[in-house]
Amino acid sequence: MSKLTILVLLLSLAGGTVKVLGGIIYGSKALFVDALTSIANFIALIATIHYYKISFIPPDEDHHYGHYRLGYGGTIVSLSAYSFVAGVIIMDLIGAGAYKVHLYAPIYASMGFALYLAAIILSRRISEFFKPYAVFTVSELIESCVVIIASLGGALYNYIIDFISAIALTMYLFYELYSVARELLYRLSDIAPPYDVMETIRRIIESHNVRLVNLRIRMITPGMYRGEAVIEVPTDMTVSRAYRIIKSIEDSVRNKTNTELTITIKASKT
Ligand SMILES: [Zn+2]
Repeated sequence: MSKLTILVLLLSLAGGTVKVLGGIIYGSKALFVDALTSIANFIALIATIHYYKISFIPPDEDHHYGHYRLGYGGTIVSLSAYSFVAGVIIMDLIGAGAYKVHLYAPIYASMGFALYLAAIILSRRISEFFKPYAVFTVSELIESCVVIIASLGGALYNYIIDFISAIALTMYLFYELYSVARELLYRLSDIAPPYDVMETIRRIIESHNVRLVNLRIRMITPGMYRGEAVIEVPTDMTVSRAYRIIKSIEDSVRNKTNTELTITIKASKT
């Protein structure tokens, strides 16, 4: 594990701990919601790091194409952890009566904010698979800001300010769960690569003076693709010539677009 990763982990853990203490001891429901999502955030981070490492295991007997998509395990664990705490939060808010918020709550919320700010800035430098984690962590920052104001209002004026903010944060959590789940489904759907990747592959094939009959490409992870092309070659072309063309196309496509292309040939009629 890199020093950067360890630092992100420690910052995230410290931020979560500060919020849990502040939320439970100083009676802010808004900070309690924030604290529980921080715990989910920490679990999500560990899972993201774990599956990120697994995704680089080379192909083996049970994964002939490598393990890249296991990188999405981090997103799946993030969704589960946040969904679980969302349920716990709903039950707590339903059962809440009138309560008192201590002035220390906004102070703890501010400390949590500073620690998460550092964690998210660093995590974005690690990898693509950290994006869903970073989405939830950005929400941790938004939450921290809301909680600082809400718990301050709750301590100085009325607990209702704190309570309404807790409900608003919970609704936002459900919105995030929805958008991360949607993004995950989309990425797992064998979606075609961006237009410019398709165009580059088409251009490489046509520059070899063969006719492209069919091209199908799917995204494995963003920036990594796989697919098949059918090309037409003259009937009198030798096998060794056809092989050289195929090899040359495959190599340039791999180098320029990070796409593993399998090419099938079809003899032209003329
Ligand atoms: Zn395997």
